[in-house]
Amino acid sequence: MVQAENVCKSFGALQVLKGISLQVQHGSVACLIGPSGSGKSTFLRCVNHLEKVNAGRLRVDGELIGYRERGGKLYEMSPRDAAKQRRDIGMVFQHFNLFPHRTVIANVIEAPMLVKGQSRDEAVARAEDLLSKVGLASKADAYPAQLSGGQQQRVAIARALAMEPKLMLFDEPTSALDPELVGDVLAVMRDLAQAGMTMLVVTHEMGFAREVADQLVFMADGKVVERGNPREMLERPQHERTQAFLSKLL
Ligand code: ATP
Ligand code: MG
Repeated sequence: MVQAENVCKSFGALQVLKGISLQVQHGSVACLIGPSGSGKSTFLRCVNHLEKVNAGRLRVDGELIGYRERGGKLYEMSPRDAAKQRRDIGMVFQHFNLFPHRTVIANVIEAPMLVKGQSRDEAVARAEDLLSKVGLASKADAYPAQLSGGQQQRVAIARALAMEPKLMLFDEPTSALDPELVGDVLAVMRDLAQAGMTMLVVTHEMGFAREVADQLVFMADGKVVERGNPREMLERPQHERTQAFLSKLL
């Protein structure tokens, strides 16, 4: 589903991604870990073309992200085509970015109505279904400020799912939450994984990675240092850097 080949990204003179190659199979979950500044968020942002890659190829579901290839040459996509591509990729951030002046259900139905052209009835029916899946059926008419951080994050997940994405990207979705709220959000993500969603998750919740992820990827300095089966990697990291990082985390 996700194929990254030698993805490079610089901001001015600062090379942030130095040739990232990784694959996430359809219906599988990959967790991405690594020190602050290693390029995890930048990589996720490249996957939905919020950042342009400088070199390498990124494909989602076989489709080149952000570019068209003709005769071996790459041409940048129009913003309109890039936006169309982005619709199929859901993203959930550390800070949930809900619209504060709209109710929960209004937050969830906005994009399906505006972007997908769904009727209000259709969008509301689907939003109600999604809100009950994330355990918030009773909060449809509440405003974001009336919800806990964990509840807001679950609304953000429902909002992303309302667009029926084929891939979900999560960037530290629980790291801004009080510890007692983390579990509910991870449970929703686990259900989503079990339902077959393809997911790329930046997280330092190693319990989640161990139980839910099919693949654990350790990044440092803009490179993939090590990747593998989460259980094996957590028990027997092969590289010194991975060992040092995990020993600080666990
Ligand atoms: P963290 O764990 O702290 O979230 P990260 O692994 O997600 O870190 P990134 O946010 O991808 O790291 O940042 C990688 C590097 O790229 C950092 O040095 C950061 O300062 C730099 N960077 C990220 N975005 C930009 C930008 N828009 N302009 C310039 N530099 C940037
Ligand atoms: Mg980050």
